[in-house]
Amino acid sequence: MCGIVGYIGHRTALPLLLNGLKRLEYRGYDSAGIALPHGEGLYIVKHAGTVAQLESMLNGLDLPATVGIGHTRWATHGEPIDRNAHPHTDASGRLAIVHNGIIENYATLKAKLQEDGYAFRSDTDTEVLAVFIGALYEQYGDIELAVRTALSEVQGTFGLVVLSADHPDILIAARRGSPIVIGVGNGEYIVASDATAIVEYTRSVFYLTDDELAILTRSGCQTKTIDDIPTSAELLELEFDLERIEKGGYPHFMLKEIHEQPETFRDACRGRLLAHEGNIKLGGLRSVEQTLRRANRLILTGCGTSWHAALVGEYWIEELARLPVEVEYASEFRYRNPVLSPDDVVVAISQSGETADTLAAVREAQMRGATVLGIVNVVGSSIARETHAGVYIHAGPEIGVASTKAFTSQLAILMLLALYLGRMRHLSATQAQEIAAEMLRLPDKIQTILSRGDFIQDIARSYAHATNFLYLGRGVNFPIALEGALKMKEISYIHAEGYPAAEMKHGPIALIDENMPAVVIAPRDELYEKVLANIEEIRARRGKVIAIADENDPDIAAVANHVIPIPRTLPLLTPVLTVIPLQLLAYYTAIERGCNVDMPRNLAKSVTVE
Ligand code: GLU
Repeated sequence: MCGIVGYIGHRTALPLLLNGLKRLEYRGYDSAGIALPHGEGLYIVKHAGTVAQLESMLNGLDLPATVGIGHTRWATHGEPIDRNAHPHTDASGRLAIVHNGIIENYATLKAKLQEDGYAFRSDTDTEVLAVFIGALYEQYGDIELAVRTALSEVQGTFGLVVLSADHPDILIAARRGSPIVIGVGNGEYIVASDATAIVEYTRSVFYLTDDELAILTRSGCQTKTIDDIPTSAELLELEFDLERIEKGGYPHFMLKEIHEQPETFRDACRGRLLAHEGNIKLGGLRSVEQTLRRANRLILTGCGTSWHAALVGEYWIEELARLPVEVEYASEFRYRNPVLSPDDVVVAISQSGETADTLAAVREAQMRGATVLGIVNVVGSSIARETHAGVYIHAGPEIGVASTKAFTSQLAILMLLALYLGRMRHLSATQAQEIAAEMLRLPDKIQTILSRGDFIQDIARSYAHATNFLYLGRGVNFPIALEGALKMKEISYIHAEGYPAAEMKHGPIALIDENMPAVVIAPRDELYEKVLANIEEIRARRGKVIAIADENDPDIAAVANHVIPIPRTLPLLTPVLTVIPLQLLAYYTAIERGCNVDMPRNLAKSVTVE
C-alpha cells in the first residue's frame, strides 16, 4: 500500500534511501523508517511522522553502509505510532524487513510463535512475518530458505525487502499482490514499490511477478519463485520523466484514484467475500455477531460522500436483510435528540475516521446505549478506535480531496454487510452466491468504463461552460445522482443538484431549458421505463440529456443527446458502475475549467472540525 525502497551497491545508501522515501511521499503515509547494517548489527530509526523528520533524526550520524532498506507506512494493522513503523525485526534484532500489504493469517502465526516463546513489540502483521522469518533462519541457518519457507506459509499480500546483519552483502525482495520493481545499475540495485524512487538512478528495471523472489548482491541478481524454481527477469526501459510519475503517471491524484478503483474494490472484498459458499466473513464484526443477529434497526450515519454511500447501503440492507434502516447526516444526528434503543445498531461511515461530526455522532450513539460500528479507511483513526467493532475499507491513502475510490470501497463493504445481515435472516445461499459472483466481476467492468475516459472527456468539453447541472436517478441510483452532483460541485464549482428522477416534475423541471444539461442514470432495471419517460420530458423542453445506460441500449440512444455506456450487471449492483462515469465527468469538466481538482477551494480532505 505504501512505500518501499532498498539499496545495495557502492554508494552510501542512506541519502539514496531518504531520497527514495521522499519520492514515494505522494502516496500518503503515516510513518517512516530505515535500517542499515552498522558495526556488527543493524541501525534502525523509525517514527510516526514525516520523512523530513526522519531525516533530521539521522542528521549528523555517520552511517556509511552501502546497503539498506527504507519504508513509508500506511497503517493497516496497528495504529500509526513509532513502534508500529517499519522496518520490523526478528527476535534477534539482526534481521529487518519492510513490507507493503497485509498478512492475513498473522493472528494464527503470531499465536504459534508466542507458544514457542517469541515476544512481539508492535501490533503489526509485518512484525509477525519478520519474527517468523527469523525463527526459520534460526532453524535452517539459510536466509534465503527461511524467507521462501515463510512466504509459502503466509496468506495475504506482500511486497517486501529483507536485510540481515549476518549477510550485509545480500538483499532479498519478494512480492505477492503488492508491486516490487528493481532498478539495475552498474554494480548496484535499487528496489522500490514503484519506479518513482528509481528513475533518477537508472532507467533499466524489472518487475517481480507474484510469488517471485529476487536475491540481490553487488555482483548480480538471481530471481526464482518462492518454491525455488528459477525465473528469468525481463529488463525494461523506463520511459517516463520524474515529473510524470510523481503521481504514478497521472496528472492528478484524483484521476489516479479513480483509476485505482478496480483494484481497491477488489481489495475491499478480498478474504471477505466467500463467493462459492455465498457467505461473508467480516472478522471485525465477530465480537458483535449476536447483537447484529438481534438488531431491530440500523442507523447509518456519515457526511458528504459517505452519507451517499449510506443511502445506497440503506437500499441494499433493506432489500437483502429486510432490516429497517435509517440514514442520518452525522451533523444532524448529534443535535436531534435521536430515539435509540439498545437493539439499534449505528454504523458510522468516514474515509478518514476523523470526521468531527461523525465522531460526535458515534459518541452520542454510544452514550445512548446503541452498538456502534465503524466503516473507515484509516487504520487506528479515532472512529476506528472509539466504535465497538467495524470494518476497514482498505482503499489505501486517498489524497484527492474529492472522494472517489473510498466511495466505491464503502459501497463494497456496505454490500458485504447487507449480504452478511441477509444471510443471518432470510437471504438464501443461492441468492447470496449470485450477488457475490457478480461482485467479483465488477472490477473488470469498472475497468471497461475507465477505458472510455476520452469519450467522457469529449462530453465534458461540450458542457464545461454550463452554470447548472441536474442529476437524476431512481431507486438505488438516486444516491448516485446526489454523489455525481456533489463531485461536480466540489471540483468544478458548477452548481449541480441531484434528484430522484420522478421528483423532477414537482419543481426542478422549471429550470430546464436548452442551457441545462441533465445527467440521467438509466440502467435497465424495473424503473427503466419511468426514467425513459423522464428523459422525454427533459427533451420536450429542449434540455440536454447525458444518459448513463447499459451498453447497446437502442431506446436510450434514440432519446438522449449522449449515452455513456456501462457494462450490464445485476440491477442492485449498478451504483458501483454508474458512479464511475460521473466521477470522470466531474474531473474532466473541472480540468476544462482550469480548476485545481486535487485541492478544490475551501475544502479539506478530512473535516476534523464541526
Ligand atoms: N500491514 C502493514 C502494517 O500495517 C503494512 C502497511 C503498509 O503497506 O504500509 O504495518
